[in-house]
Amino acid sequence: PADFLNALRLNERNPQGASRTLFSACFTRVCFGASYGFVSLVKTQRCFLYLKGIHMIERFFTLYKIPAALLFCTALLLSGCGGNGAVTAEETKLVMGTVARLTVRADEITSQAALRDGMAVLTQTEQDADGVALAAVEAAAGTGEWREIPRTLYETLSRAQEGARRSHGAFDVTAGALTELWERARAEKLPPSAEAVAAARACVGYELLELRTREENGQTKYEARLMKAGMQFDRGALIKGLALDGICSTWQRAGITNALADLGTSSMLGMGVNEAGEPWQIGIRNPRGERAGDMIAVLPLSDEVLSVSGDDERYFMYEGRRYHHLIDPRTGYPADTGLSSVAVTLPLAAEYAAGWEGNMGMLSDMLSTAVFVLGAEEGRKLLADVPSALVILIGTDGKVIGE
Ligand code: ADP
Ligand code: MG
Repeated sequence: PADFLNALRLNERNPQGASRTLFSACFTRVCFGASYGFVSLVKTQRCFLYLKGIHMIERFFTLYKIPAALLFCTALLLSGCGGNGAVTAEETKLVMGTVARLTVRADEITSQAALRDGMAVLTQTEQDADGVALAAVEAAAGTGEWREIPRTLYETLSRAQEGARRSHGAFDVTAGALTELWERARAEKLPPSAEAVAAARACVGYELLELRTREENGQTKYEARLMKAGMQFDRGALIKGLALDGICSTWQRAGITNALADLGTSSMLGMGVNEAGEPWQIGIRNPRGERAGDMIAVLPLSDEVLSVSGDDERYFMYEGRRYHHLIDPRTGYPADTGLSSVAVTLPLAAEYAAGWEGNMGMLSDMLSTAVFVLGAEEGRKLLADVPSALVILIGTDGKVIGE
């Protein structure tokens, strides 16, 4: 039976929940068995006694009908409460270089299954089958040759290209040569030379990434090519949003309505409400706070995604200047537009974003990076196309400069 199987499945993660489920399944069976047996006995006896006409003994069994019915009702009631009450289940795991925390409110079995499926999406994103396809495209960069890529990767890159066009290259999925240069600089705590920056910048440009589809033997093939040798991809600015979209569709398919996925506070998905029946409350970190836990704002999140891009996550100081990980591909240097953090929230069901359904995580992730690189003024222009986006801009002095 399904509840016994579920109890066994549960056992891997939640032994306590498993024993409760197992106990309730066994108890329900025993109660059902006992009451069914008793009622059958009463019936058989009644038949027999009618035949014999011994009315005294018939009355004796009639008396026991009431306890039998009570026992039957208790069994029904217990089978109703056996693990079906809403619980808040939570799991934390170090994955994709961050502490991911998933919270699901549903009955015990459903919530445990949802946690397992959500974590599987994250592990799969980390194992990253797409990375192999991207490496093949990079290896052929500058040769003019096309490389086949999976359809899902083709769709991700197409959306990234749209983000790049709309942000005039402030967000650029081909920024790999530059971001790698600055990552090395961060490790050495030394800015790269102007020549190195110029050389890497020459290997960046979304207009040098081409995508196409073609038909072969009745099948659609998806292909990509990079037009310049040395070009590299970097999906760092959209990958957490992509993972959130995967979790969101998995949970929606499973009928989950109340849940929170927190990928290291910079990317969040809030579905429905929390235990108190209110939207999930998310603290926005003060990038200039004295402690990591200093908050500058609290945002309600209900059927929305949130993405934060800040200069306080990965940076190094050199001669009094902050060199962070959000690079302006147009200059080749860390973006310097007076912002220290950008938070963007988007509703999951944003009707304006035709063709972006089910991709709000990726859109908000790209937008937070793009707005950070563009600065407040240009960033607001970009967001004019996305009216239901809510944005919090924090200046380099740690003050909120606009919403
Ligand atoms: P987080 O580090 O929280 O994921 P972001 O979503 O803003 O923050 O992503 C930052 C990452 O995106 C960087 O570490 C880098 O790999 C990549 N990146 C930096 N600048 C750009 C850019 N202009 N366009 C695209 N990707 C970028
Ligand atoms: Mg981002």
